[in-house]
Amino acid sequence: MQPQIILLKEGTDSSQGVPQIVSNINACQAIADAVRTTLGPRGMDKLIINDQGKATISNDGATILKILDIVHPAAKTLVDIAKSQDAEVGDGTTSVTLLAGEFLKEAKPFIEEAVHPQIIIKAFRKAATEAVKKIKEISVRINKSDPKEMRQLLEKCAATSLSSKLVAHQKDFFTKMVVDAVMLLDELLPLNMIGVKKVTGGGLEDSVLIAGVAFKKTFSYAGFEMQPKKYTKLKIALLNIELELKAERDNAEVRVDSVEEYQSIVDAEWKILYDKLDILHKSGAKVILSKLPIGDVATQYFADRDMFCAGRVVEEDLKRTMKACGGSIQTTVQNLSPDVLGSCETFEEIQIGGERYNLFTGCPQARTCTIILRGGAEQFIEETERSLHDAIMIVRRTMKNDAVVAGGGAIEMELSKHLRNLSRTIAGKEQLLMGAMAKALEIIPRQLCENAGFDATNILNKLRQRHAQGGIWYGVDVLNEDIADNFENCVWEPAVVKINAITAAAEASCLILSVDETVKNPKAQQDGPPGGGMGRGRGRPM
Ligand code: ADP
Ligand code: MG
Repeated sequence: MQPQIILLKEGTDSSQGVPQIVSNINACQAIADAVRTTLGPRGMDKLIINDQGKATISNDGATILKILDIVHPAAKTLVDIAKSQDAEVGDGTTSVTLLAGEFLKEAKPFIEEAVHPQIIIKAFRKAATEAVKKIKEISVRINKSDPKEMRQLLEKCAATSLSSKLVAHQKDFFTKMVVDAVMLLDELLPLNMIGVKKVTGGGLEDSVLIAGVAFKKTFSYAGFEMQPKKYTKLKIALLNIELELKAERDNAEVRVDSVEEYQSIVDAEWKILYDKLDILHKSGAKVILSKLPIGDVATQYFADRDMFCAGRVVEEDLKRTMKACGGSIQTTVQNLSPDVLGSCETFEEIQIGGERYNLFTGCPQARTCTIILRGGAEQFIEETERSLHDAIMIVRRTMKNDAVVAGGGAIEMELSKHLRNLSRTIAGKEQLLMGAMAKALEIIPRQLCENAGFDATNILNKLRQRHAQGGIWYGVDVLNEDIADNFENCVWEPAVVKINAITAAAEASCLILSVDETVKNPKAQQDGPPGGGMGRGRGRPM
């Protein structure tokens, strides 16, 4: 009998070889199944309740996978690519997960028949490169110099992104808003210059876009009622200073022997505060914003002098005001020269729903805007925000790179055809593998059909025929249960979304195919000395 060799600690869980790859593939398919039904304009939404009982309704692949809290190590890869797709391009997160799941599904029979994973990986990489090349070749460039054409293009891309969301009914309304919002930004299109605020109540269509900074009125002390609520052509002081009486006393320990001494300290405190307020008043600023609290004495002081103040302004809002209106945030009042003050055309405090909002418009420096979302349930507004985020990202992407392709499965069908034709020119196993990849790409139109309740086989056959005849932009027409030229129907998507999705999905599936062993160390013993479970490899005796 052979002696048994013990290599790993007792309790180590290790599995390897073909069954391991197949089990990883199965896990990834389970992930793809979780988001499958959300794809496309007729996709369903998911309601997820987390461990704290918070409910989220979402249609966004990345959001769903993030909340699901997946623990399977291989399946986590898919969650990661969905997240990175979200960060890179902002849309196409469901597509990327589905594609990766489908690539793996097509690879499974080969693995089971003992084709070496490296051969599959090589073929998949090649196919992905070819697909990307093809997208670049056929994507349509739009003339950027014509503002009208550009705007049309942007609206179409935003509309395609929104048509698969909960807010699809208000698509036209939000499309305009999103494009306006992005158009208000400057060259670099910084995302953080679009503020999104949510106010429950009212209808979705009561949402407004404000060309400037807006934030919820902060907590105010008595006296604010007397402050004016509207100015034009004003100066703004941005502070990080506490304008409250108690402030100085808390900074040090003071010992006093008599009432007079105490009184002099109190007087000094008042004087310090009043000196600050006087300087602020003299600086010519009409609106005083501070990150720290502004107390009742200061509030009253400003009210008496026809000035407005707001304390405890959220840092993000304060920074956005600074970027928009100019000036800089001051930590002392000593050098309040005119150039550190911001300025804008109008300041106004208005009522939106049950909340009061401070608005700054006509800002000279950077270009910024704020979307104030209205709507019934909180979850609904949150999903609206996520949908708008996708659309905003798409519009930004399109403004930066102006190539588009037709969506609704059109581009995927064309790529599928291209790869299938290409595979016929290759000899050996690679031919079959590239064919498998071509088949996998059909998952997007197939799922779009299935989610809309159409006969997928029928429609896919029609699409294959049409593409073979040269109709490169034919895709699923979700309104008429048929196929249609989606380029003419204006179902457009930026080419970069598709390029990123295919590359990321191919990379992820190659990664999963290349793992043939998982070793899981046993859990550290509970009652050992602290850190004792680390054992080997840490310079400890074995
Ligand atoms: P993702 O997270 O991948 O963006 P979506 O649920 O947004 O998932 O669905 C996107 C898919 O729906 C894309 O393939 C897109 O082309 C398709 N799509 C969007 N609008 C339409 C439409 N009006 N007709 C057909 N397909 C559409
Ligand atoms: Mg989308």
